[in-house]
Amino acid sequence: MFKFRSFFLIFILIFLLTACTQDSIIPKGKNDENIVVTADEKITFEIINKIKVPQEKVESIKDELLNAYEEIQNSIHTTYVPSERINVFLNEGNGVSWGLKSELQLYDIKENQYPLVHELTHSLLGYGNNFDKSRGYFTQEGFATYMADKYGENEAYTHKLMKYFIDSNKFIPISKLIDLNQDDAYFRPALTNQKEYTLQWMSYIHSASFITYLIDTYGLEEFEQLYNEEDLAKKIEEIYGKNISEIENDWLVSIKNSQTELTYEDKRKIRSFYTITSVTDQIDPEFFAKE
Ligand SMILES: [Zn+2]
Repeated sequence: MFKFRSFFLIFILIFLLTACTQDSIIPKGKNDENIVVTADEKITFEIINKIKVPQEKVESIKDELLNAYEEIQNSIHTTYVPSERINVFLNEGNGVSWGLKSELQLYDIKENQYPLVHELTHSLLGYGNNFDKSRGYFTQEGFATYMADKYGENEAYTHKLMKYFIDSNKFIPISKLIDLNQDDAYFRPALTNQKEYTLQWMSYIHSASFITYLIDTYGLEEFEQLYNEEDLAKKIEEIYGKNISEIENDWLVSIKNSQTELTYEDKRKIRSFYTITSVTDQIDPEFFAKE
């Protein structure tokens, strides 16, 4: 009796498994394997696997999206309402990744260097007015990099790199990075030569280090009031009770006191470190000059 019953149960189990497998093979228009919905059912991500990575990788990207979604939800809150559907493109090669309203364009997939947390932060919290440049780049890029440093896969060197810039006399004044008349040259150069790539990279690290300092020193709630705002110099003074040059000075002192120099091992781990920094002396000194 017992034997018969086990046999019967196994038979039912095999039947169910077969039924499930067959069910999932039936095409339903969109391939479910590439879709993931957040636990609160607010956002559906569809992964467009243009480079045909194995399904295993797609599954791990789905997990990364859900985890990043939770972390970003638990960070700051903005009035921006994200798109209910976000398409996540996995692209060939090492182009420039983007996080827009309803799409993430990710590169560097095979090298595991794709900036998923960074770009998703843009898509979920909003950027400018409908993803334009009307509110600059400083708080948005700084915060996206802060989130990636904290929750992304790769080791963060933001503050150590900042110390490296200060020690090499390649410090960009914050007043320039937040100036809407100058910030395109720093954050959105034409990228036609290495100097422009390097200046852009340095600008991102300056913004990330400064924003990280603000959050670690004063908290997320204060930063929430600054994110994606207009007239940052005035806002900073209102929120933090110090003007931009006072707070910039505090930050620089804190970096000098808390950070050690980049080691050879660090430089080896930071992607393209030597290529990027090989041209810093050729960048127009005007970009680093105090106003
Ligand atoms: Zn970005």
